[in-house]
Amino acid sequence: MIKIETLSKSFNEKKVLNNLNVEIQKNKITALLGPNGSGKTTLLNIIAGLLNPDQGNIYINNLMVHGTIGTKKVNLKPFERQIGYVFQTNALFPHMKIQDNITYGLKSLHLSKAEIKKRTNTMLKLVDLTEYAQAYPNQLSGGQQQRAALARSLATEPQIILLDEPVSAVDPQYKETFRQELKKYLQTLEITTIYVTHNLNEAFMMADNIAILGNGHIEQIGNKKEIFDKPQSEYVAKFTGTNILKGKATKQQNKQHIQIETNNNTLLTTTSTNTELIGKNVTITIKPEDITLTTKKPTNTNNSNITNTLQGTITEIIQMHSTTQITVDIGFPIKTKITPTMIKKLEATIGDTVYITFNPSTLNIFT
Ligand code: ADP
Repeated sequence: MIKIETLSKSFNEKKVLNNLNVEIQKNKITALLGPNGSGKTTLLNIIAGLLNPDQGNIYINNLMVHGTIGTKKVNLKPFERQIGYVFQTNALFPHMKIQDNITYGLKSLHLSKAEIKKRTNTMLKLVDLTEYAQAYPNQLSGGQQQRAALARSLATEPQIILLDEPVSAVDPQYKETFRQELKKYLQTLEITTIYVTHNLNEAFMMADNIAILGNGHIEQIGNKKEIFDKPQSEYVAKFTGTNILKGKATKQQNKQHIQIETNNNTLLTTTSTNTELIGKNVTITIKPEDITLTTKKPTNTNNSNITNTLQGTITEIIQMHSTTQITVDIGFPIKTKITPTMIKKLEATIGDTVYITFNPSTLNIFT
């Protein structure tokens, strides 16, 4: 587990990290996701001990590695923190064979020759590079080099591994395979991992948990479902590509639902914290895939006069890999995702009037 409390870091008066608090779950892969320049590498460098924060405490498995206890200041050196770090571009020693690159970090651990040999061979096997043991880095592809860098970091048996955009240096055609293999290694080793990326799909593919960095702090951390289904801020909602609606919670309906007035429409939403929201301005998010699109106005199927149906005009149709994204203007743009079968049935095109409908339980709400 990595625990970070009240961490701040500025460069030339510019606050990059501002009172950041987070707990990273042990033995899981946590994606650290944020746009370029949001401070991801800065945070990794601080955790690894390569950069000092202006303030804040950092604990690794309950041991303080940086911070203040009473009047005592703690700041463990990078090698004392038992952290493996794989940089964005691999940092293999070009003049050393792959095998020697892996062995390098083990030499400072005062291990027996036999143990060093055993660990090196195990790591080479793990990353599938046994036959490249005697090769030099420039004789390997980008993906193989990243695997060697990973092997070098893992050989010291760190408690934690930090991976900074580890796929960025891999050739495009091998990225997918490399990701799958990397995930397999990390899961096999059950090692606490922070996986930095600015790519939402990659975070979704690789991680158990996602931490979203923005405005100098962790905007939200949770498992993938929580992040995608229940964003708790507009920043996270925008990042996950979900639809955002603004409204006011006006009253409770039949215990399960609350009524929201939004842009001349009344919506129903299901929420467990409902009564506290009454009278407040709220933000609602709805995932494109949770929206049903029809060309005829749907008939009312529940007992209420509110059907969560909004009328709009199609403004954009984008064919994606396995779905089609249709944008509907309902006073502001709403994105929907339709399967190929549905799009055939729909027979709709740009400029057509359509109806979007959603189940109250698919709406997420926060103040
Ligand atoms: P990310 O990894 O999310 O792209 P970084 O942590 O690399 O972001 O950088 C965050 C911000 O801090 C950027 O605006 C960057 O220019 C600035 N920054 C990072 N390192 C330094 C440094 N050593 N000196 C000055 N500014 C820096």
